[in-house]
Amino acid sequence: MKNKLPFVLLVILAVTCKKEESTAPVFEDPTFKTYLDRFVSEANARGFNPDVSLLRIIYSDTLNYYCGYGVQVAHQVQISTRATCWAQLSDTDKEILMFHELGHAVLGRNHDNAKLANGDYKTMMFAGSQFGLYVPETPERRKYYLDELFNPSTPPPSWGNIKTTPTIVFSDTINYASNKWDFVQRAGSYQTGVLSAEKFVTAGHSLKMNSPSVSAFSYWAYLIAPPPDIKEGDRLVLSVKVRLEGVSGGNGVIVAFRGDSDSRTLYLQTTQGSVPILGTADFTEYRVELPYYINATSRIIIYLMMDGPSQGTAYFDDITLIKYE
Ligand SMILES: [Zn+2]
Repeated sequence: MKNKLPFVLLVILAVTCKKEESTAPVFEDPTFKTYLDRFVSEANARGFNPDVSLLRIIYSDTLNYYCGYGVQVAHQVQISTRATCWAQLSDTDKEILMFHELGHAVLGRNHDNAKLANGDYKTMMFAGSQFGLYVPETPERRKYYLDELFNPSTPPPSWGNIKTTPTIVFSDTINYASNKWDFVQRAGSYQTGVLSAEKFVTAGHSLKMNSPSVSAFSYWAYLIAPPPDIKEGDRLVLSVKVRLEGVSGGNGVIVAFRGDSDSRTLYLQTTQGSVPILGTADFTEYRVELPYYINATSRIIIYLMMDGPSQGTAYFDDITLIKYE
């Protein structure tokens, strides 16, 4: 015991010395540095100079639910080695992941699930998956969330206001003479779609869809291009009246709309997975909402469809798109 003491002391001294020598951040992957450099430069641009000298950004194979983990006291960020994480993320989602974890590890911030009036999160430090919080096409959102990251007292942005003033930007009561809906019959699908005078709410017609058996799904589609006058940050609500006759199996009827820029899909809002539309019922209104409209949208497509595993008959009428300012 007596003989061992100097050895223990030596080890402690060695460890202490090693810690003191570490005055530059350590990266297990060179791509991590790109995002730390960006973090520091965004901080500097806002008048902050965070100390990242003790920071270590390393891979972890034990993160099962999240792609990253920021440890405040240890000045450490762990990035999951799972294939669906770092390697697959877009540049913007890598930034969001790394900035959130650096919020813990460097800025000492905790999770905060507070919301803005429009329902968006107040901060990128909320618990859960932050991917898609902002995208390259929403620079105003990125600016606010970065301002707030470095200064939690940042005032709420104007786009975060509650949106209550409605304007109808698209309305179709399904009129036989001027129908512009396409029924898209996909390969391997037994589903059929026709303009129908059997059941309707308004104007004598509706869009009918029938699925006689389990098959690939088909769908009704309406293209709105270019989109009508909708402002960045407006809330957009699609409402559709749906009549159901013996719809069973799978997700049933699905109401959705998608927004594309000239180069990619920006959003897809759908009832699938959240609002089951099944059974037998007279015309009932269903809504799908987009909380933040993106100006880069060059076309909107409305989809009325039935899930592949579903069977039965549906009628669609009074399809309306409303913007709220
Ligand atoms: Zn977190």
